[in-house]
Amino acid sequence: MQPRYIETTRVVIVGAGNVGSHTAYSLMIQGIPSEIVLIDIDKDKCMGEVLDLVHGLSFVKPVRIWAGDYSDCKDADVILISAGQRQKPGQTRLELARPNAKIVSAIVKNIVRYTKKAIILVATNPVDVMTYVALKVSGLPSHQVFGTGTNLDSSRFRWALAEKFGLAATSMHAFLIGGHGETAVPVFSHANIMGKNIAELPGYSLLTARKICNKVKNAAEEIIRKKGATFYSIALSVSEIIRAILYDENHVLLVSSLLTGQYGLKDVCLSLPSVIGRTGIKKIIEIDLTPNELDELKRSAEIIQEIIKKLRL
Ligand code: NAD
Repeated sequence: MQPRYIETTRVVIVGAGNVGSHTAYSLMIQGIPSEIVLIDIDKDKCMGEVLDLVHGLSFVKPVRIWAGDYSDCKDADVILISAGQRQKPGQTRLELARPNAKIVSAIVKNIVRYTKKAIILVATNPVDVMTYVALKVSGLPSHQVFGTGTNLDSSRFRWALAEKFGLAATSMHAFLIGGHGETAVPVFSHANIMGKNIAELPGYSLLTARKICNKVKNAAEEIIRKKGATFYSIALSVSEIIRAILYDENHVLLVSSLLTGQYGLKDVCLSLPSVIGRTGIKKIIEIDLTPNELDELKRSAEIIQEIIKKLRL
């Protein structure tokens, strides 16, 4: 196989706030793309973030980073949308739908003026609704426009299980599907360590499962209450997704995309295990769910669909 280091790979990040700038930092220190462009309506802040990043260039693998504009999307491989309002303490992600739909819609219109080839990855909340907005406004195929989904929730789930059972988070095979955050569905029936279901582990009980579930679903709220915003873990989650795209990894990740009949659900964006590579989503994997998990997934879809309907796209 040919080495990849001579290939130029460009990631454009629209929204250089907490999520966008920390994603740029994470991509930079992991040496994932060769070019990172930041775009933000607040040009001073954007330039400030870029300067802070480029001052560290002598410590990392070569990467070009600059404050750009939408014309830089022309040669982008991946465009991350992380612009928009974030939750205030006590606010839910779903309450952000109306203001952020306007922002995401305007951004996507600007992007498609310059490219119809890049993969568009949405992080702005409520991410499942914003993914749907981006998809509809872009007119692009659904394998090319998807959201960060429950990839982060799944990492939180693995961490909570790892804490409980005293094992490494990377050894916990567990994930959440459905809507990101409040409506996510922890798939306990497939949560395992090397094939051993967690329900068979000493110390497991329904009460433990419920506590872990609450910990995961309330994780962002707790962080926002304590420090105002979440950004390290989402930046790592986004970086994992971008690496899977740029390196054609065929990594199975939990991203939000348009469902087309899976579990009888369609015309809604939700997370299911998805094979991610250079062309975006190559395949969505349907796993067996218990009747309870299926009900929860359907409930999650109903909630997201209700919000989409109210937006009258
Ligand atoms: P932030 O306030 O720090 O940054 C938002 C940035 O967007 C600001 O710099 C702002 O100037 C910019 N912006 C606003 N409108 C714009 C426009 N039209 N064009 C370009 N830039 C624009 O917020 P944050 O903490 O970075 O969060 C950003 C979004 O990501 C929020 O919606 C938040 O809820 C979401 N988020 C998602 C996840 C996830 O798992 N998907 C995790 C954390 C945060």
